[in-house]
This record gives sequence, structure tokens and C-alpha cells, in this order.
Amino acid sequence: MNDTDLSPLPAPSPPPAGTRRARAEIDLGAVRANVRALRGYAAGGAGLMAVLKSDGYGHGAVPCARAARQAGASWLGTATPEEALALRAAGDTGRILCWLWTPGGPWREAIEADLDVSASGRWALEEVRAAARASGVTARVQLKADTGLGRNGCQPADWPDLVSAARAAEVEGTVRVTGLWSHFACADEPGHPSIALQLAAFREALATAARAGLDPEVRHLANSPATLTLPASHFDLVRSGVSVYGLSPSPEVGVAADLGLRPAMTFSASLANVKRVPGGHGVSYGHTYTTPGATTLALVPTGYADGVPRHASGTGPVLVAGKLRTVAGRVAMDQFVVDLGGDSAQVGDEAVLFGPGDRGEPTAEDWARAVGTIGYEIVTRIGTRVPRVHVHAQAPEAAEPGATEPVGG
Ligand SMILES: *Cc1c(COP(=O)(O)O)cnc(C)c1O
Repeated sequence: MNDTDLSPLPAPSPPPAGTRRARAEIDLGAVRANVRALRGYAAGGAGLMAVLKSDGYGHGAVPCARAARQAGASWLGTATPEEALALRAAGDTGRILCWLWTPGGPWREAIEADLDVSASGRWALEEVRAAARASGVTARVQLKADTGLGRNGCQPADWPDLVSAARAAEVEGTVRVTGLWSHFACADEPGHPSIALQLAAFREALATAARAGLDPEVRHLANSPATLTLPASHFDLVRSGVSVYGLSPSPEVGVAADLGLRPAMTFSASLANVKRVPGGHGVSYGHTYTTPGATTLALVPTGYADGVPRHASGTGPVLVAGKLRTVAGRVAMDQFVVDLGGDSAQVGDEAVLFGPGDRGEPTAEDWARAVGTIGYEIVTRIGTRVPRVHVHAQAPEAAEPGATEPVGG
């Protein structure tokens, strides 16, 4: 990719006021570059839905939504209706799908905010019809099939009933079926036998819907791993989440840099204490670490309340004073310690837990490996006490070629 946004970050500058303890810096240039890279993967002119659930996987949904639109995302996707309503309230005027519904809605608010809603069963369709009748607005509904994930979505046995009821609602004018969709179970393990079975089941579900008279705008199945590895699953739209933020979905899919993705989040803190201690000194709760000799300990003022996994005790990697170190002893609620060995550091120096890796810092994927989870969880769990600092935002008038939707707000 020829993109100046991918050049290494400049040398670290002092953190902005209010972010001195800990901060998550989000490079919106990386988000834009990732969206453009993913659009390049999308086969046969398929559009891209940027998935922004859970505050944009912890990166800040509104700024990331703007960046994704600037780079040409034609749809945004969220789990809950509240998340989608928040994007609307922030000024986004494009298409937004939200899919995680429970009885009671808020269907009417969603319809009146011009959101596309999702139904996985008759109860949801009936609630949408009632809300549409009450508001006088035709609801845009996408029907979700369970093609094998076994989570949300309509089972094949119930699908004919759901699609014919939806068609009847179209005829009565309360509903327009804008999409048919499903979700993969194992796309992050390319070649897994369930992938081909789900693709076949999805084609079957589309055929059943067509026989019932449905003619949706978009059919979509691919999450990030399928966006990156399975063009046959792209249909009209890919729904990319973790890859928008520059993380690979799994080691099997590949390493982020090799996939043309750049991690957008850098999570760092400023050392709150640096001190010499003698050998044999216990460190942090439970004394699970004891200094092997006289050494220097540095206190990193962020802990499990901020999303640093307690499972990182004794294993989490951190860049401090130019070298990779390991969390010494337990991660506490607000802080943990690293042993600098023979090295020195100053109070206030930066400790980088993870970032894109340019400066030798660990990545979120390194943390995932160290604690036995996935990169998704590492970035998404960063808590609300950690301020997000968004850099490389771009003015709307400077929107790059390829942007298809106006960016409001
Ligand atoms: C989270 C989610 C996605 C995005 O998945 P990634 O693996 O992060 O790309 C797509 N579709 C649905 C239904 C989701 O819940």
C-alpha cells in the first residue's frame, strides 16, 4: 500500500493533560488505511460494513465510524440498538444495521432513526410490524439465518415461515426486507469443514427466501476472517470488525502486517514510581515474584480495572526503558510492577503495553498469546477509566477518494 498514514509514529511526546496515568491512543489514519485495505479484499464489488460494537472494540465508536466512512465504509454495524442510535445521534447519516434485540425493542426509536434492524425469529418480526404500524414508517428489516453457528439466527426448519411472514409484511407495507444474512462459527480456522457447510446452508436460505418473493438489497455472511480468506463468502457486503482496528482475527489467518493491517491502538502508561530494592524482596500481592538480586522496580499505574488481564501476572509483556520486560508478580486493580534488572528509568517515563509494534513494543496479539485469549478481548476490555486519545483525525472536507457516504457531525 502506498499510504503515508503507515509511516512509523514520531518519537513519543509528553502525554496530554488528563492522560498522564494511562491512555489508549487511537490512530485514525490506521483505521482509514485498514478500511481501504479491506475494501481491496472485498470480492466482486462487495461493500464494506465496519463493525463498531462495544465502543468500536474499545477504540471509540464515533471517531472510528467517521474514519471508516471517510475510507469508504458503506455500512456501519453494531450489536445493540443503543449503540446504533448513538452513532445516529453523533451525526452519521448512512446505513447502520444493529442485530442484537430482545423483546420490547427499542424498535420504534430504531425505525424512526432510520436504522436497519434484524430479526432472527417471528417474535422479532411481529414486534417490528407493530412498531412500524404505530409510527407509520416502513421498517427496514434484515432476516438472520442460523447456518450453523448455533447462536442467534433462525433455524432452517423455521426459516420458510419467517421469510413468508416477512413477505406478507412487505405486501401490507409495514416492512421492507433489506437484507438476508448469517454469521460464521469457524472462519478464523481456514479450511474448517463447517465453513463450506455454512456457505451451502446460506445459499439454501437465500433460495428459500427468493421463492417466498423476497428480493433484498444485501446478502452478507463474511466477518473479518472470511473477508481476508474466503471471497466466495463476500456476496454483497463484508462485515469486518477486528480487522478495521488492525488486528488479525487469528494466527491461522495471518499476521496483521502481512495482511496489510495496522493495529490502531497503543496502550501506555507513565511510570508512577522507580526505586532500588534489595534482593529477596517480594513484589505485589501474594509475593508470587521475589527479586533475584538487588534491582530496580518500576511501577506501571494501570491494572485489571483498566482491562489489564489479571492472568497477565508474571507473563504480560511491556516495553519499559527501551526493552521488553515481563509483569513481575500480580497485576492489581490499578497497578503492576516490572523488574528493570540492571537498567534505570525515570518516574514519568512511558511504559507501552501494546501498540503496532514499530518501537519494539508488544502487540495486542502478543498479549493475547501471553494470557491465553484473543486480540479481540485484549483491546475491547480496556476500561472506561483509560482516556482514548484519537490522533490523525481527518477533516471531512479532506475525505479521501473512495468515501461514499457523507460524514455528519
Ligand atoms: C462481531 C461481529 C462481526 C465482526 O466480526 P470480526 O471477526 O470482528 O470481523 C460480524 N458479524 C457479527 C454478527 C458480529 O457479531
